[in-house]
Amino acid sequence: AVDLLTFGEALVSLRTAGPIVTGGALTPHLAGAEANVAVGVARLGHRAAFAGRVSDDELGEFLLRQLRAEGVSLEHVVRDPDRPAGLMFLERRTADLTRVIYQRAGSAGSAVSVEDLRPALAAGARVLHLTGITAALSDGAREATRWAAVTAARAGTLVCLDVNHRTKLWSRDAARAALADIVGHASVVVASADELDLVGTAGADELTVVAELLDRGVSTVLVKLGGDGARAYTREGVRQAAAVPVTAVDTVGAGDAFTAGYLSGHLDGLDLAGRLRRAVTLGAFVVGGHGDWETLPRRDELSLLNDVQPGSTL
Ligand code: ATP
Repeated sequence: AVDLLTFGEALVSLRTAGPIVTGGALTPHLAGAEANVAVGVARLGHRAAFAGRVSDDELGEFLLRQLRAEGVSLEHVVRDPDRPAGLMFLERRTADLTRVIYQRAGSAGSAVSVEDLRPALAAGARVLHLTGITAALSDGAREATRWAAVTAARAGTLVCLDVNHRTKLWSRDAARAALADIVGHASVVVASADELDLVGTAGADELTVVAELLDRGVSTVLVKLGGDGARAYTREGVRQAAAVPVTAVDTVGAGDAFTAGYLSGHLDGLDLAGRLRRAVTLGAFVVGGHGDWETLPRRDELSLLNDVQPGSTL
């Protein structure tokens, strides 16, 4: 059994330094929330596995090569000869505004099925990480996500669900309806403050949704607050963690890094304060560097940001 199992759509992200319409160079990067979490956990020395469908072509090979280089196990990936890799274009429109264009409808990743996942779930994991993105990709992917949550919870695996709402993939109402069937099997729920009512009553405030989740058997609710850090709710109460101060150069992937840090802390048996500290530390590494996951720390780098001032040389 691995420490962490996750599945979803790994995307080829094509980044530009300026507006897409004026052209210029595009550089390919591995992207996708679940892949980011797998890399974050693997960098810290845990055994992480990524499952799901990947196109059986050069772009799929690129994605797997990136994950393999990070030490992520790919034993249960299914190659799809008929569907393409999902693409996303990340346009740096201005220093403060990055825009995303997706070309992912009908992709290999969106065709993931229960059958694809059976071997990975049978092999077992200490933690299963799911996101609301996979549930949004297709009816089959939604059913696969729900099935994985049920199957893992029954096997005693800790199930973590990151709401990860993508407005370009589905409406808030569609997300709420689908996630209602999944969240009841989760032990850890991760959301931004504005996503929280997607796993509870529409329009309900934070405390109401948290109470609903704890009532449904969720043990920890993590609310990400960007530069303000995060809050963690358990039956014992609420704990706040400040963000690690960094120069923010690229916030994409911060949430996935946060989740990877939290789950790594869980795998290491840290208490809630320790798990949160690792979560905000990984978030800071990704916010303070370019790329969705490239600047995630290895274990020996976890304390690297302590006492760093802008322009520090080590
Ligand atoms: P994304 O969807 O871009 O991955 P998110 O909205 O899911 O991000 P955020 O709340 O923006 O998640 O960030 C996750 C965590 O990363 C925060 O809880 C915080 O610990 C850290 N973080 C985010 N922004 C900053 C910042 N400006 N400075 C330091 N840490 C930050």
